[in-house]
Amino acid sequence: MRQVLLVRYGEVHLKGQNRPYFLRRLTENVKNAVAPLGAEAWLSDSRIYVSGMADMDEAIRRVTRVFGLHSVSVAWELDKDFGQIAAQCAEIAKTLSGTFKVMARRSDKRFPMNSQELNAELGGVMLDSNPALRVDVHRPDHYVSLEIRDHAYVYVGEIMAAGGLPLGTGGRALLLLSGGIDSPVAGYQIMRRGVSVNAIHFFSFPYTSERAKEKVLELARIIGEFGAGMKVYIVPFTDIQLQIHEKCPDEMGTLIMRRYMMRIANEIARRDNASALVTGESLGQVASQTIEALGCTDAVAELPVLRPLISFDKQDITDIAVKIGTYETSSLPYEDCCTVFTPRHPLTRPRIAPVAAAEKALDTEALVRAAVEGTEEVMV
Ligand code: ATP
Ligand code: MG
Repeated sequence: MRQVLLVRYGEVHLKGQNRPYFLRRLTENVKNAVAPLGAEAWLSDSRIYVSGMADMDEAIRRVTRVFGLHSVSVAWELDKDFGQIAAQCAEIAKTLSGTFKVMARRSDKRFPMNSQELNAELGGVMLDSNPALRVDVHRPDHYVSLEIRDHAYVYVGEIMAAGGLPLGTGGRALLLLSGGIDSPVAGYQIMRRGVSVNAIHFFSFPYTSERAKEKVLELARIIGEFGAGMKVYIVPFTDIQLQIHEKCPDEMGTLIMRRYMMRIANEIARRDNASALVTGESLGQVASQTIEALGCTDAVAELPVLRPLISFDKQDITDIAVKIGTYETSSLPYEDCCTVFTPRHPLTRPRIAPVAAAEKALDTEALVRAAVEGTEEVMV
């Protein structure tokens, strides 16, 4: 008799013909997440099971971060034998206080008692074992569950997992990762929909420091933990920023800078086999995030630009940043390249033609080529 993790999956249920593919991928991702603990994972009869780990808490932490999963329970794996099940329920009863409800479910209909009978019998066993307990079928303190499948599984409660779709089932995208609060959350949200993500960071040394770069790598490391790590492309951006500052109208500075980011990200994405870009923009948050400004940046991005935070308030974004563990690092004070040359009166309703005309002062092709050639790759 051992304890295993009994894992339920989420939206994969909805996949019709593609379901086997999604499930294979999901099981693979769970296996990879627990392999460093010496544990194994397998799929059987609508559940994924994990066993063989010494550190149960760490296994739960890892499994609840795998996208595509709904929830996890720590279950006793028992023979399909009423005596053994009842004995375990009696043991569990001794550890509980307050009210409870037994919820039995038979996937194996050959088991001689039906769910109603199991609920009643096991409830009685638990009350005998711990007379201080009471049954409450509406709002119990504890749900004691029994699932009769290839074995009998008994557990109390469930821990919610990350939801979403299995990573790797949604293709690849390139995340524009700054050191701020928003872009790591944007990356997380897209990964959660099954998309594998690498990152690109525009680095304006010496206007932004080595420490600012370390901060970005740390953010990539944190969100990379939701998958199998992350590659970060570090693009030398100083020259472009200086030239924009020198040769273009001040009020267009940020917009033009963002158009260069898009052009370079496009090229790096192509080399990285990514088919979309991802940013942390949220509508109206700053001048460069109005509908008109976003249109102006999109005009030079050949790939689709995904903006998962477009409708989120700053507070919504911050809450997620806290939840996924990026908030603290994002709040470190090191400056970002965008803040170095910020115009005093940026255009909020730019039109594309004048912006494109202003860019004529720059040798776009050469600037983009030099930036791409100088790009450094870091695996975190
Ligand atoms: P964040 O908190 O993500 O920095 P923000 O609200 O500060 O976002 P901006 O600085 O205008 O917004 O940047 C908008 C988006 O552009 C960011 O979410 C990010 O995707 C991208 N971005 C900004 N600066 C950089 C950078 N130095 N390197 C890579 N991407 C960047
Ligand atoms: Mg920023």
